[in-house]
Amino acid sequence: MEEKDLKEIEKRLGYKNVDAWINISEEEKEKVYEFAEDYKAFMTECKTERETAEKIIEIVEKKGFINIEKATNLKPGSKVYYNNKGKSVVLAVIGKESMQKGIKAVASHIDSPRIDLKPNPMYEDGGLALFKTHYYGGVKKYQWVTIPLALHGVIVKANGEKINIVVGEDENDPVLYITDLLPHLGKDQMEKKASEVVTGEALNAVVGSIPLSEEVSVKPNILKYLNGKYGIVEEDFLSAELELVPAYKPRDIGFDRSMIGAYGQDDRVCAYTSLRAILEIDVPERTAVAIFADKEEIGSMGNTGLQSRFFENAIAEILEKYEGSTDIKLRRALANSEMLSADVNAAFDPTYSEVSEKQNTAYLGKGVCITKYTGARGKAGSNDANAEFVGKVRKLFNENGVVWQTGELGKVDMGGGGTVAQYAANYGMEVLDCGVALLSMHAPYELSSKVDVYMAYKAYKVFMEKD
Ligand code: MN
Ligand code: MN
Repeated sequence: MEEKDLKEIEKRLGYKNVDAWINISEEEKEKVYEFAEDYKAFMTECKTERETAEKIIEIVEKKGFINIEKATNLKPGSKVYYNNKGKSVVLAVIGKESMQKGIKAVASHIDSPRIDLKPNPMYEDGGLALFKTHYYGGVKKYQWVTIPLALHGVIVKANGEKINIVVGEDENDPVLYITDLLPHLGKDQMEKKASEVVTGEALNAVVGSIPLSEEVSVKPNILKYLNGKYGIVEEDFLSAELELVPAYKPRDIGFDRSMIGAYGQDDRVCAYTSLRAILEIDVPERTAVAIFADKEEIGSMGNTGLQSRFFENAIAEILEKYEGSTDIKLRRALANSEMLSADVNAAFDPTYSEVSEKQNTAYLGKGVCITKYTGARGKAGSNDANAEFVGKVRKLFNENGVVWQTGELGKVDMGGGGTVAQYAANYGMEVLDCGVALLSMHAPYELSSKVDVYMAYKAYKVFMEKD
């Protein structure tokens, strides 16, 4: 057989992922760039789970979504939201079908790795006032030193008053800072393993250096400042949630502006794209639902994470107001549902190619990534999606101009990770991981491709819209 015939067979029968930039029209390319601008604006404002939940509710209220607590007479096309403690949100557009036939859901998470303050954070040493911290999520600790950090969060005072804090985002704000050792004195440090170069207890943020007087040192001066500015006393830190996040703004990356650098793209890239998708859904066949969960980075725990029943409770509330909820109706609604677990995956990094298996890894710019299973050590901890459901999603994407690829998180036994997919699957619903592939995931500044971001939006929209 001639080489040209072999090529022809390969082309006709073989699988090859395609480059999304090459396979879209000039018109669509413009949309890709436009969408990226909206995404960057969202990411500039949303750096914590609370800020993201608040922003989502602000946006959807303008688009006619009603708090489920106030909603009555739900009918096809009705739009509602469920606010779970200001940290996780469920949105729904009621479909024509009974909810018992199942909903079409997209679930992302809105928490990201960061550096939390300890409950009693403040101390002074060597003429500096500092905050002790406890990192949140899987971070390479050495990446979080010597970068500008903004402080975000809430403080609940003794009288119950809640104060919102954002310091370090405005150009004129000060930022906080975690030090590292200079190379000149780093001889011993540099001999250590990367996991020990910067320890958890070394992640102390510098917050001030001017003493109050000759007799009184720096810490009281900072306490005095905080009391003047926020009316807080030191004990108030014990009922606070304060998060240090990179004080970086999203930027285009590359001469061709094809990529985006931003903090917290895991997983706010999937949150934003699924938000945009559900906003454009009119009257779907099946009820369209977008879930924005908290605590994924620490195992989906707590009453705002997807291991809790908040999602089930939200569906029960919506079902009750649409067609009356009973236990069996709710079980059917959940079990008959289909979900895209919208989380990021790792993109192939040519500099670290040894961790990926080239034909089953995701690549930047090759579209939204579907991941049949996650997990580690022989798929442990994974929802291994059913072939029937993967086939259905694949057909849907192919028929609707969604450029997609497959991606496994690294080589077998190289490491691994999980998503919320397994918790949703416990209800009996079909679940498939589907999201954007990133470079430098969990770093203070993560990298995505604009065309993949756009394809994620397109994927979520067609999934919720069509059956
Ligand atoms: Mn994630
Ligand atoms: Mn993550």
